[in-house]
Amino acid sequence: MADPDPHPATFDGGCDCRAVRYRMRSRPMFVHCCHCRWCQRETGSAFAINALIETDRVEVTGEVDRVDTPSCSGQGQLIARCPRCRVALWSHYAGAGTRLSFVRVGTLDDPDALPPDIHIFTSTKQPWVILPPDKPAVAEYYKSAEHWPAESLARRRALFPGR
Ligand SMILES: [Zn+2]
Ligand SMILES: [Zn+2]
Repeated sequence: MADPDPHPATFDGGCDCRAVRYRMRSRPMFVHCCHCRWCQRETGSAFAINALIETDRVEVTGEVDRVDTPSCSGQGQLIARCPRCRVALWSHYAGAGTRLSFVRVGTLDDPDALPPDIHIFTSTKQPWVILPPDKPAVAEYYKSAEHWPAESLARRRALFPGR
């Protein structure tokens, strides 16, 4: 038996004007808190919180604009935005493509439900941000095999067979 889950297995969210709503149909595989300069610029804040989940587990009501946006890797990312209020809801990065969504946790109705599993790119963390001592933190990126739970690694293998 798995541990009892204090949060429901679905997570709803959407943009400010409510033209776009989404539902994550399960917990994400992993949650990144990214302190890189790109995320700081894109959010106008100190970090971005991204829940990594299979795109086919996200039900969307309404249409999104996928905006081609430069990224740290140089390969670009597609940011899904509400066509009306322009709030950014999730991203697809070139490496994983559109099968994997990086859902912006701040757009959930209850963003408290998905705290970060890891802090990344802490080399550019804003100095006033104090990280929780019980969560892993890495200067830049990391190997998922070293930090993801086995179940999440299995989900990723199912998503990208042959990798
Ligand atoms: Zn909107
Ligand atoms: Zn980042």
